[in-house]
Amino acid sequence: MASTMEHDRLFMGGRWAVPHSAARITVTSPLSEQPIGSVPEADEVDVDTAVSAARAAFDDPCGWAHWEPARRAEALNRFADALEARSGRIARQVTAQNGMPVVISESVEGRTPAVLLRLAAGLITRGPLEHMRARADGTGGTLVRQEPVGVVGAIAPWNFPQSLAAFKYAFALAAGCAVVLKPSPETVLDSVPLADAAMEAGLPAGVMNIVSGGAGAGAALVAHPDVDKIGFTGSTAVGRLIAESCARLLRPVTLELGGKSAAVLLDDVDVEAVANSPAFSATTMFSSGQTCWASTRILAPRSRYEESVEAVASMMDGLAVGDPFDPATQVGPMVSERHRTRVEGRIREGTREGARLVTGGGRPRHLDRGWFVEPTLFADVDNGSAIAREEIFGPVLCVIPYEDDADAARLADDSPYGLSGSVWTGDTDRGIALARRVRTGVFSVNGRRTDLGAPFGGEKDSGLGRELGTEGLASYQRLQSIFV
Ligand code: NAD
Repeated sequence: MASTMEHDRLFMGGRWAVPHSAARITVTSPLSEQPIGSVPEADEVDVDTAVSAARAAFDDPCGWAHWEPARRAEALNRFADALEARSGRIARQVTAQNGMPVVISESVEGRTPAVLLRLAAGLITRGPLEHMRARADGTGGTLVRQEPVGVVGAIAPWNFPQSLAAFKYAFALAAGCAVVLKPSPETVLDSVPLADAAMEAGLPAGVMNIVSGGAGAGAALVAHPDVDKIGFTGSTAVGRLIAESCARLLRPVTLELGGKSAAVLLDDVDVEAVANSPAFSATTMFSSGQTCWASTRILAPRSRYEESVEAVASMMDGLAVGDPFDPATQVGPMVSERHRTRVEGRIREGTREGARLVTGGGRPRHLDRGWFVEPTLFADVDNGSAIAREEIFGPVLCVIPYEDDADAARLADDSPYGLSGSVWTGDTDRGIALARRVRTGVFSVNGRRTDLGAPFGGEKDSGLGRELGTEGLASYQRLQSIFV
């Protein structure tokens, strides 16, 4: 367990600055239910200070935005080195705050941000940022330029606080932008080593700023007149509010929101072997189900429905639930008491709607503290019911029968969300054919194998725009055509 941490500064303008606000955010352990640290809670004045520092850094005529890409890339690689040196501490802090099993936090939270910084550094040095293009009328050329978009407000959620922040700042910084990051109040403690790493890397003052705060600080950042672009990951409800604000301001925004993805078991697989494979539990229950892209609707062929329900139930019954610091743990606690209450409310709703509770539904009996929920499986679920349509964000799956591949694709697609999905089959081409029919930003054949070089994002209520890859970098660039 990470030790208690008290911090009294905000990282703004390249240093630890005394905040204007006297308010503080206290973070509580979801395992011990006790406070584990606190940091200042930024108010509007602090957000303004951070944005002003970013603005000054971005507008500096000899500053970061005007550095040769190779020089920026060197700084990002140093930032990656500094994060790697802190990766163990960062991973433990994330686990202490949100209950993520430590085997996941060590890789996704401890190591991925440095990987992303190196990837983004590689992208920015890959080719020229401007080129002459032949004019459409054949009379000479036009100079087409890529410029950094400006000051970026990056807002992150609590479920993967480090990696989802890096989805934004790594690419924004590579493009030449200056960043004000607002972490989620549930997971603010790990932003302290992040800021230390930025300082150690020698990023110019004001290029990276972090304001710990809640909804108020986030709204102030979104509406600040000196911000040029917002990158947000979080709930669909908050995403809509941010989109409204950005629409009024004509401010570009990337939104990574909720999901309710499907895992389609095709009829050619050994259902028991697939459902009990590590790839299947990772795809459906990653990080205790507190994962936006998890495939939480299991679509099973009607001809093999009961067999599928039993196989998924046996996978869920076999998951190790407990202390997230134990490397054997697969399911940790919910991030907060409020969130556990929400998940339990959804489980009650499922029962009320008439779904069959196959396993779980309560709190694990062997744990007398911590905000745990038993891995819970519903069968005989109607795809139109609330537990099939609403994001639960906990260890809760449902199994829905389908008739044939076309019906499976229709059901997978019949969701307000469109983030992700998976298909399980011995025939890759059949899997790809099904994936093509579902409107989601990402889809996987036989288990999620994340590619940090490919665009990631959602359709419908799952968001707007893409992060990662060249597309993620482009979202922090603006284009200028100079007719000559
Ligand atoms: P949330 O929407 O409550 O909060 C996200 C962030 O927005 C936090 O930093 C919060 O302080 C801030 N915020 C809240 N109100 C705001 C406002 N009015 N203006 C500006 N900022 C505001 O989400 P959460 O509970 O932290 O995260 C869980 C949600 O995130 C789930 O719905 C999940 O699906 C989604 N998520 C999506 C992805 C994705 O890539 N699509 C990834 C992870 C999580």
